[in-house]
Amino acid sequence: MDVFGLLGNPVGHSLSPPMHEAAYDELGLEARYVTFEPDPADIAAAIDGAEALGITGLNVTIPFKQDVLECVEADELATRIGAVNTIDFTGETPTGHNTDAIGALRALRDHDVTVEDARAVVVGAGGAGRAVAFGLADAGATVAIANRTESTAHDLAAEVPNATGHGLETDELTDLLADADVLVNATSVGMEEDATPVPAEALHGELAVLDAVYRPLETRLLRDAAGVGATTVDGAWMLLYQGVEALERWTGRDAPVDAMNETLRAHL
Ligand code: NAP
Repeated sequence: MDVFGLLGNPVGHSLSPPMHEAAYDELGLEARYVTFEPDPADIAAAIDGAEALGITGLNVTIPFKQDVLECVEADELATRIGAVNTIDFTGETPTGHNTDAIGALRALRDHDVTVEDARAVVVGAGGAGRAVAFGLADAGATVAIANRTESTAHDLAAEVPNATGHGLETDELTDLLADADVLVNATSVGMEEDATPVPAEALHGELAVLDAVYRPLETRLLRDAAGVGATTVDGAWMLLYQGVEALERWTGRDAPVDAMNETLRAHL
């Protein structure tokens, strides 16, 4: 039996176990997906232990995504992003990957959004913002990064090809969005309260708007975007496709996307 899992703290409300186990059922794989909450001081030992026990693959979430970089052979994209969310134990040594970036791209493409040559605005420059900004830039988009702490946006823009850094002032966002095709919210705004990092007046019908927030599924930003006729992509699509990418890497099989999506949404 293959064992997969999630390293994080807390992981009690994670949607990954049902989503991945739905895929095992569909693929006829004898496998389990287990959650682990190691002490932060024990993260390296936890990864060594997982390898010794023959675990096939682990996802990694807050607060371990950065720490794990030092414990595995991280690939080039995960190294640039500075975070690992997927560990693959199927090779000689554990390798680290970041599937949030491709997860966001696949979520957009699934909604017929062209990311190549797109003019994108990424709001947020934390872990999700870094992944999305590198993913979009690698796919050929021009990326404007806007963040509450403006210096973090400038620092990230200096690392990402074809990127500029900005603050979150309404005038600046409105100017950036007037020419944009794609907007991604990669902040946590909209999760705790019915709030949005982007004023509704700055949105328009030519935009595709992806919100990384998936609890709630329908955020104020997505409601505002739908209100002006924009294409909307909720955060569950990004969550789905980061999981799809991890599963495909671990198993070498095509993931049963529909079954995973159905189960994920049933648990939200
Ligand atoms: P993080 O590293 O802590 O970064 C948080 C970001 O949100 C920073 O850019 C921060 O700006 C900004 N922010 C926080 N509160 C704000 C406020 N009141 N006003 C404006 N900006 C604010 O978190 P993360 O890991 O990037 O996660 C961000 C969100 O993405 C979370 O909701 C998470 O659940 C979601 N996410 C979703 C997926 C998915 O698959 N759908 C994957 C990863 C993350 P400062 O730099 O100024 O603090």
